[in-house]
Order: sequence, then C-alpha cells, then structure tokens
Amino acid sequence: MEQNFKALVVLLILNGRVEEALGKLAERYGVVEPKLKVGLPKGRRKKVLGCYSVKDKTIYVLNSEALKEPFTVLHEFYHHLRTAPDARHRGSEKRANEFAREFVQAYGYREMIGRK
Ligand SMILES: [Zn+2]
Repeated sequence: MEQNFKALVVLLILNGRVEEALGKLAERYGVVEPKLKVGLPKGRRKKVLGCYSVKDKTIYVLNSEALKEPFTVLHEFYHHLRTAPDARHRGSEKRANEFAREFVQAYGYREMIGRK
C-alpha cells in the first residue's frame, strides 16, 4: 500500500504530472500543497536542480528537465514537510535525500515485479 503510493508519486512526476503528485503528497502528509515554479528564484547564484523557499512555500526547480526528476521534487517536498507549522525540526539534507530515495526505490521495486 505505502509502496504503491510512493511508486505512483514517482510515476506521476516522471510523466510531468508534478502538481498532481504534490497534491497527493500534501494530502497524505496533512500539509498544505506547496507552490511550484520552474526557474530558480532571482539572486540565486549557485546552480542547483531545486530549492525550497519557506517564505513563499514554493518548490523551485531549475528547468523543465529538473521538474520531471522525482528525486529533486521529493527532496524539496521533504523541506516543505519539515517546515510545516507543527514540524518538530527542519530536517537535514541527509534526511531529505533519504526521503526521496525511499520513493524512487519503491518505484524501482515495482518495475522489477512488473518485468517478471
Ligand atoms: Zn535540500
């Protein structure tokens, strides 16, 4: 069940249905849906694939390719999750990567089963 949900979210992102994926994630985790923008905020010097702005509750992705990258989107969603009003802690980069990896692995697992 949980694995199915994670695999579905990854599939939606890969298919460019990112807002739908974020909607499902927000519902599942009981947080408001983050906003999503393609292009990094102004003044951002470092070229990163994505970032999260606490101030405007927005996930920014570098470009349309990064938008379809489940790992990036899920990593940034974790930051959104950790900045919800009742979040106990902000979460680390390591935890954000672990969160994203769990989803990607759930999708890979399903792929393997499908090929049997
Ligand atoms: Zn991060």
